[in-house]
Amino acid sequence: MNNILEVKNLNVHYKKFHAVKDINLSIKQKDIFVVCGPSGSGKSTLIRAIAGLEKYSSGKILINEKEMSEKSIMKNNIFGMVFQQFNLFPHLTILENITLPLRKVKKLNRIDANKIALEVLNKVKIEDQKDKYPSTLSGGQQQRCAIARSLAMNPSIMLFDEPTSALDPEMINEVLDVMTDLANLGMTMIVVTHEMGFAKKLASKVIFMDNGMIVENNTPDNFFNYPKEERTKIFLKQILKH
Ligand code: ADP
Ligand code: MG
Repeated sequence: MNNILEVKNLNVHYKKFHAVKDINLSIKQKDIFVVCGPSGSGKSTLIRAIAGLEKYSSGKILINEKEMSEKSIMKNNIFGMVFQQFNLFPHLTILENITLPLRKVKKLNRIDANKIALEVLNKVKIEDQKDKYPSTLSGGQQQRCAIARSLAMNPSIMLFDEPTSALDPEMINEVLDVMTDLANLGMTMIVVTHEMGFAKKLASKVIFMDNGMIVENNTPDNFFNYPKEERTKIFLKQILKH
């Protein structure tokens, strides 16, 4: 099968600081890549650069084997992105949060936008919350709304940046369940997370980053049971301790 996404020798600098160093990745349709690593290792910068939200200093992004600029990646809604913070508009209802980009970016009329919004709200199981305002929902429900908003734009690949890190522990599973459903429906995903249960169960590959580099890119079985790199072993010891 062809690669849906290829990242080639990607480098990101913030002024003189080299945040992402010569990253290479190949992802096939329906792959679930889990990215982990210590704070400041460049995980967010990497996926933001892939999504076209961060300028890269050198390298290439290929979508379905064709090189694409940041601009065309954004314009074609290749990526849906979900952040730690939900970034919902507080003055709009759940439904309106989802229809707004459909109407403004995709130029859909109200009827078509509503139809898509209801479909994606059903997918994340909060259609009954559609007329409420974000602040009246739980964190888990708000994050599911943010996922629905991304899905509504019909992206080819979903990128998640620590989607459960801001949630109370009892709400983490409802968000992971929605992500699991998406994975089972065949969505291609890159997920920055330290939820290692999710990684063990669903990842095609687990990537460990440190200091802007990919230190290890391995199958979940090998990553957890037979890590190649000393740095990976130390990291695993730290996070699996809890
Ligand atoms: P992670 O997501 O793994 O915690 P980040 O990608 O957020 O790491 O950050 C990687 C490095 O780049 C960090 O040292 C961080 O301080 C730095 N960095 C991130 N964003 C910026 C920015 N906008 N300007 C300057 N430095 C940044
Ligand atoms: Mg980050």
